Amino acid sequence: MADTVKKLALSRDLDDGELSALIAADVHDEELRVEADKKRREVYGDAVFIRGLIEFTNYCKNDCYYCGIRHGNKKAERFRLSPDEILACCDEGYPLGFRTFVLQGGEDPFFDDNTLCTIVSAIRNRYPDCAVTLSVGERSHGSYLELFRAGAERYLLRHETADPVHYGKLHPAVMSAENRKKCLFDLKEIGYQVGSGFMVGTPYQTVGNIVSDLRFLQELDPDMIGIGPFVTHSETPFAGFESGSAELTLRLLSILRLMFPHALIPATTSLGTVSPTGREDGLRSGANVVMPNLSPVRVRNKYLLYDGKICTGEESAQCVACLDARVRSAGYRIAVDRGDVRKDGAPK
Ligand code: SF4
Repeated sequence: MADTVKKLALSRDLDDGELSALIAADVHDEELRVEADKKRREVYGDAVFIRGLIEFTNYCKNDCYYCGIRHGNKKAERFRLSPDEILACCDEGYPLGFRTFVLQGGEDPFFDDNTLCTIVSAIRNRYPDCAVTLSVGERSHGSYLELFRAGAERYLLRHETADPVHYGKLHPAVMSAENRKKCLFDLKEIGYQVGSGFMVGTPYQTVGNIVSDLRFLQELDPDMIGIGPFVTHSETPFAGFESGSAELTLRLLSILRLMFPHALIPATTSLGTVSPTGREDGLRSGANVVMPNLSPVRVRNKYLLYDGKICTGEESAQCVACLDARVRSAGYRIAVDRGDVRKDGAPK
């Protein structure tokens, strides 16, 4: 198996059988971690990029079975931020060092193209040195194009699971893996820096499903890859399922770093939720991005995709100070930088 880790580090690929064996076993986790850290330092040095996350609406028309803000959860307290409130989040984040703002929300028809384009342009006009990333789900090609022209340069849309049968077990029949993938290729074709990814430990997930996820990512070749453990939410059809494990998520972060040396990979909040040292461990395992929450504190505990979410109480400045300490303790440093993907691989 040790040879398998070396082979992955050198060739960035393995056959399906080798990948499955690596995913299923824990005996080479430390070797994987060491190789992944070596690779991230070759490409990105010790830099960790920060993205200011602005959760601006928890309304959603969809009913994904795993999600706490799904339309069918009548207990969710709904909120929308106004354009002025969104801009105020950026005003707070800029002096703290943020040069990327991530606007994340459910699929909320209230934010039509016109409304979202106005918000994106306003941010770009006020902060031309900052990147705007959108994470607002599946939209039409025309909509993605308008938003790109308004100044959004990056888009996050996890594919969640590449296997259509597994996808059907996590989502209602009106949603499909096929459309999800089409959206991702539309975004790429338009010129966005695209982020995709999947949840680890979702109900019914097999090792074979995870191999399919890695193969799909190879096909898409995204700039950003987000993975995090599935975390149970009590008001969803998956309330009775166990959360995914930090260990498998960390193993997969290392495998992803070796397969995609140039990718921007976050140590996610969900990883920090299932393990107190999850985000530091994520950074040590190959991740190089953290996404502190810039949303107003009054709405933080309403954007609950899963139970037990951390960092819902702190002001933005506290979040950054805490993360800065965590990043340093893991042996890295926060970069005040837009943090664009480094395809040329030049070390910093
Ligand atoms: S996962 Fe996204 S699309 Fe699905 S219900 Fe939740 S917010 Fe909506």
